[in-house]
Amino acid sequence: MISDAEGRPIPVDRVFKETDHFVQRHLVLKAAQWGRGLFERQALFEPAGDAGLLSLQVPRAFGGSDLSFGDKVKVLQKLARIDFSAAMALVNSHNVAVQLVKSSPYVLSPLYAGDLMRGRIVACTALTEPNAGSDLGQIQTTAIRHGDGWILNGSKTWIINAAHADGVVVYAQTQAGAGVKGIAAFFVRAESLGFERVAVSTNSALTSMGIGGIRLTNVYCDASHLLYEPGKAFVDIMGAINRARTYVAAMCCAMVSQALTDVRVYGQKRTAFGQSLDQFQGWRWQVAQAATALQAGELLVSAACDLIDQGSEAQTAAAQAKLYSTSMAQTQLGSLLHAMGAEGFLDQYAFLRHLTAAHAASLADGSTAMLLERVAQDFRFKPGAS
Ligand SMILES: Cc1cc2nc3c(=O)[nH]c(=O)nc-3n(C[C@H](O)[C@H](O)[C@H](O)COP(=O)(O)OP(=O)(O)OC[C@H]3O[C@@H](n4cnc5c(N)ncnc54)[C@H](O)[C@@H]3O)c2cc1C
Repeated sequence: MISDAEGRPIPVDRVFKETDHFVQRHLVLKAAQWGRGLFERQALFEPAGDAGLLSLQVPRAFGGSDLSFGDKVKVLQKLARIDFSAAMALVNSHNVAVQLVKSSPYVLSPLYAGDLMRGRIVACTALTEPNAGSDLGQIQTTAIRHGDGWILNGSKTWIINAAHADGVVVYAQTQAGAGVKGIAAFFVRAESLGFERVAVSTNSALTSMGIGGIRLTNVYCDASHLLYEPGKAFVDIMGAINRARTYVAAMCCAMVSQALTDVRVYGQKRTAFGQSLDQFQGWRWQVAQAATALQAGELLVSAACDLIDQGSEAQTAAAQAKLYSTSMAQTQLGSLLHAMGAEGFLDQYAFLRHLTAAHAASLADGSTAMLLERVAQDFRFKPGAS
């Protein structure tokens, strides 16, 4: 958390500056090492908390910076230029702090939000299950009333930060057959009896995302830890998912932007056949294609950010921004890596980490098929409409 001597929150320019310092002092130094699978949670979350990166959209009254969504996205882009996975880990924990403050300001927020904002504890959001990914209505984790509280049973997988989180927002079905209307959300502490972690072994480029799974066996959750009642949980996810789609799209643009910077610099100094690479028209055209595609992605992201900040409907705009930007990053990062020659595979560059991240981004927070379906809904023939 960053605040001045009187405890007042710091203006947005200062947040951007703190982010730049954090990137230079922590991400730039550690990202390659994390990309080889050597990730330590303390090296990411506590320094990020000190830099104010875990309280970006927490309201000022609760000690946060209360940034607009657009400004939060700019911060995430600065992080994702170096390490998309670390940026995802931080924003996922940050988002839980915002949820606790907004949904439970007098009960859960005093218990956990301060430590989440400082990076002393870490949280995550668990929807996906071994047998339910895109089809959320099919989740099988159950929450059954038990006295004043609830008993939770089930498994979650592919959850960012689950490998080491202290608290998990678990989405569970409270009523068989009720579909999404029966889903509620609970803040479950990892120290609860019956809570186990399940390892997910994945590509080390994603290590700083802390991907993991959890198994809940008769975990008791006090009524005070019900975060969203049945019915409200799904509405909240739908809003959150539009925001997540938009910042994932923005972070894909940031990865391509970083790659373009590296390629431009390298193209000036590397020579072949008596001239620098950027003197070759064919080489320059690859770079021009990437720069144009990036510009298109950024415009879609900017349109979605504006709608979110205005409080307007952003479902289609967020879906289109993510659809375009993830596939743009999948294509252009490969093309820009090629433009670097073998040099692009060196540890000092992020091309390989970013390529893996772009592919992961096309699944997280709504797979490409789900987004296409969302956009297609707008083009369906509606009887009576001209
Ligand atoms: C890096 C990463 C981080 C993640 N973090 C989280 C997290 O923090 N919390 C969380 O809850 N989940 C998380 N997820 C899970 C993510 O939300 C799911 O991967 C996503 O919902 C897709 O589910 P699935 O992987 O089970 O694929 P499936 O739903 O099994 O789909 C497999 C393939 O089929 C396609 N498909 C599915 N349905 C249709 C259809 N109707 N028509 C056509 N094609 C279809 C999909 O597009 C996909 O290509 C993460 C995933 C990744 C990769």
